Amino acid sequence: MFTRHFAYWPKRVPRTLTVPRTPIHDNLAVSARRYPDKTAIYYYGREISYRELHADVEALAGYLQQELGVKRGDRVALYMQNSPQFVVAYYAILRADAVVIPLNPMLTAHELPFYFEDSGARVAIVGQELVARVMPLLDAGAIDRAVVARYRDALPEQPPHPVPDVVAEPAQPLDHAALVPWSQAIGARLSARPSEATADDLAVIPYTSGTTGVPKGCMHTHATVQANIVCAVVWNGVTPDGVVLATLPFFHVTGMEHSMNAPIYGGNTFVILTRWNRETAAELIEKLRVTHWTNIATMVVDFLANPRIESYDLSSLMVVGGGGAALPKAVGERLKALTGLDYVEGYGLSETIAQTHTNPPDRAKLQCAGVPLFDVDARILDPESLAELGPGEEGEIVVSGPQVFLGYWNRPEENEKAFIELDGRRFFRTGDLGRYDEEGYFFIVDRIKRMINASGFKVWPTEVENILYKHPAVEQACVVGVPDLRRGETVKAFIVLKRDHVGAVTAEDIIAWAHEQMAAYKCPREIEFVDSLPMSGSGKILWRVLLEEERKKRQVA
Ligand code: AMP
Repeated sequence: MFTRHFAYWPKRVPRTLTVPRTPIHDNLAVSARRYPDKTAIYYYGREISYRELHADVEALAGYLQQELGVKRGDRVALYMQNSPQFVVAYYAILRADAVVIPLNPMLTAHELPFYFEDSGARVAIVGQELVARVMPLLDAGAIDRAVVARYRDALPEQPPHPVPDVVAEPAQPLDHAALVPWSQAIGARLSARPSEATADDLAVIPYTSGTTGVPKGCMHTHATVQANIVCAVVWNGVTPDGVVLATLPFFHVTGMEHSMNAPIYGGNTFVILTRWNRETAAELIEKLRVTHWTNIATMVVDFLANPRIESYDLSSLMVVGGGGAALPKAVGERLKALTGLDYVEGYGLSETIAQTHTNPPDRAKLQCAGVPLFDVDARILDPESLAELGPGEEGEIVVSGPQVFLGYWNRPEENEKAFIELDGRRFFRTGDLGRYDEEGYFFIVDRIKRMINASGFKVWPTEVENILYKHPAVEQACVVGVPDLRRGETVKAFIVLKRDHVGAVTAEDIIAWAHEQMAAYKCPREIEFVDSLPMSGSGKILWRVLLEEERKKRQVA
């Protein structure tokens, strides 16, 4: 049974989707042929045409191949904030027939080595403000070379919009033999060899964590990525004159697909912000007549909280939506009152390179993951017996479809647990608890997996605990996500201190220490010192007991 057989299907959206069996970088070549002089990227006032974008991609791909020895199937790390150079680097890696390893620019120098070791990436393309974190890896010989981009080089002489500090950062000397300035790599204008990549070659390996707390790479091919690119364009009715506002980070699947890859496939103009700023976003929507904006709930909350929001002309917007976390109902209602638009929420994971479900733009429900997209078979299983459940019944969401990944990179034992076979098809077990209604709309209810969703940033408690255990005063630690009005959830750590440290270390000390060890969004914002943690008979910490207690407490408060 395909759930899509009974699901509501939006008007004006065709039933079938034809996904090209071509590599992703061909999308850019086609758009550059069709619309050479059209603005592909708008960056704080600078306009980059499809012709220019394509030429830079070809030049960087040539440099990667000829100077840095990148070959088909090699992994190349991309550690950069949203910028025109991110787009060039992403497409150049693909054009060189290599595989993109997109890294969160918030990762610290402590966290970074794991990703290079795990993926085997020997070459990195990095933003200048992140070079210091990569240097130890170059010095230790863990990677060979890094191409360094300065965002300010992509700015106009006098940006008409305020630019974030990181964009305007003054140039640092790049006088290390292993560092290649961006201008040198692009300026060499070396030619890339004709691409040999097929639709089934690996294209992108975004990292996510899981029950073990160790980040794992999700293997996506050109075909899985293309499936969601085409799906996003067709579902949202984006025509070539569409203008897309790109505010989500490109290293993460939703931003990558909806705000970068989809507009390039559609031949659209996309407007890049390196850092979220509600005033700039509203100004650009008005000035450039933005039609499509994919975001995360906290951005919409902030956008609508702008006291001047009603003074902007937002009438060009046709689709506003997002995924990664549910949008609070009141926020959706306020958006509707202001723009007349329903918020189009979607659902998906790194393992599915963004959406498997989205709301029909013509009939969206609030706080709802939407209906299964083209060729997606989504079902609900009893988490214990794995029996299939019907409408209204809560269970684990499992999905099968053209965007589902091949499996985790080099993790055969995790792959055993990640998939289940039903009716001869391979389904991915999402670890999310949900249900669907009589019309086939899915709702996310809770999670089976141990994950915290803080403003859409996914925090894996085991990973945070593993780091906390390195603190000399920590005897035991248990991390849970507690309800938070602004962020949806926030990270809280219960800590048992070693006897001789009791009274000598404060919560602030531990939080400050944690900030040096891990990306800021993972750091506990709350710490509670306890005498002991609830334990099972077999000695496992009962994190769910603590979680339920916190949820109850905060409901009452
Ligand atoms: P990521 O791999 O970072 O994209 O995170 C995927 C996870 O985000 C899913 O497993 C869900 O737990 C959560 N998620 C995605 N979309 C939604 C949504 N619309 N509502 C609630 N949670 C969501």
